Amino acid sequence: MKTIQLKQKAAQRVLKGNPLLVNEDFVEPLKEKEGTLVELIDQKNNFVATAYLATQNKGNGWVLTLNPNEVITENFYERLFLQAAEVREGLKADETTSAYRFFNGEGDGLGGLTIDIYEGYYVFSWYSEGIFEHHKAIYRAFQQAIPDAKGIYQKFRYKRPDGVLSEFVSGQEAPEPLIIQENGIHYAVYLDDGLMTGIFLDQRHVRNSLMEYYSVGRSVLNTFSYTGAFSVAAALGGAAETVSVDLAKRSLAKTEEQFAVNGLSLENHKIRVMDVFDYFKYAVRKELIFDTVVVDPPSFARSKKRTFSVAKNYTALLEDIIDITSDGGTIIASTNSAAVSTKRFESFIKEAFENKEMRYRIIEKHTLPEDFKVNPHFKEGNYLKVYIIQKG
Ligand code: SAH
Repeated sequence: MKTIQLKQKAAQRVLKGNPLLVNEDFVEPLKEKEGTLVELIDQKNNFVATAYLATQNKGNGWVLTLNPNEVITENFYERLFLQAAEVREGLKADETTSAYRFFNGEGDGLGGLTIDIYEGYYVFSWYSEGIFEHHKAIYRAFQQAIPDAKGIYQKFRYKRPDGVLSEFVSGQEAPEPLIIQENGIHYAVYLDDGLMTGIFLDQRHVRNSLMEYYSVGRSVLNTFSYTGAFSVAAALGGAAETVSVDLAKRSLAKTEEQFAVNGLSLENHKIRVMDVFDYFKYAVRKELIFDTVVVDPPSFARSKKRTFSVAKNYTALLEDIIDITSDGGTIIASTNSAAVSTKRFESFIKEAFENKEMRYRIIEKHTLPEDFKVNPHFKEGNYLKVYIIQKG
């Protein structure tokens, strides 16, 4: 195996458990092929770690092991998968939930790969050409560890020369749509339709909270609603009415389908295909007020009229929402932007309420659920922040 020298500071960071390598960590510029396995040594030539090199949206490689005797073979990957399965035994046994994260990259010991389970089917997401170089060994190890997988799909979250984003890999193909369950709620998902499947699995606990505590008898507004997953949770929680707002045309049929697979009529549930900022103006004009408002925007979005970024515009977005939330009502404010820290997110909330001269109370805080396992030495992996806020 090729030996590569780390700068002293980087060696110390890696030895403490931080698994991400960046170009600046290396004494000499990297010139190895994507996916190369390397032995990392410090500037006194002591062994530090075994890693693989790969260019990802962030970083240039991931540490695989700090143990000098560990060899990276199929057995190594198989052990990681068996451990991942063990940690999630509770979820596997839960008859009301059939979709969750099975393997969460560096949190489960292998950066650059995540695996989600949907009703017995597994969806692999490869984050770099470097990790995909090892896919044959990884799939063989997976089949050993999880022989009962119904079928496998894969997503490519890096730019491939052939442009493929999603494909079926092996086993049985899943029905379209595939109906999964989460806390007893049904969702229609599509395992081979671009990068997204129709549900963001990291919001499981938040959807459950919404259903249990902030829905019964309430009017609920779901902004940036995508397939309306939050709206359906609210409806099943007894919401008197819901309104789902999303700019994307596909959101209408997708949201209708989520209501249908739960046997809900759309009588008290509206779906608006429009810009949320236009909806806010409309709501103010019509004097619409909601008891619960969900806001979970993309980190960055460009529409014909404007660009939105969580980092720049979240405070203003919250101000618009405060205007149409009832006194004593609830705002579920979420962001998955890794660029915005918890502290900064809290400052957005504080600022928005101060600007509106309104009091507020934070009643729940959520981060990633337990199946999205986070490496304790790589806190950046814990990107999700959800605050449930009471107005007034
Ligand atoms: N909250 C959703 C996920 C949101 S994904 C859920 O839990 O499932 C982001 C969504 O925001 C996309 O569906 C996109 O179409 C929508 N979007 C982006 N900019 C928008 C805008 N200005 N107005 C309305 N929807 C927007």
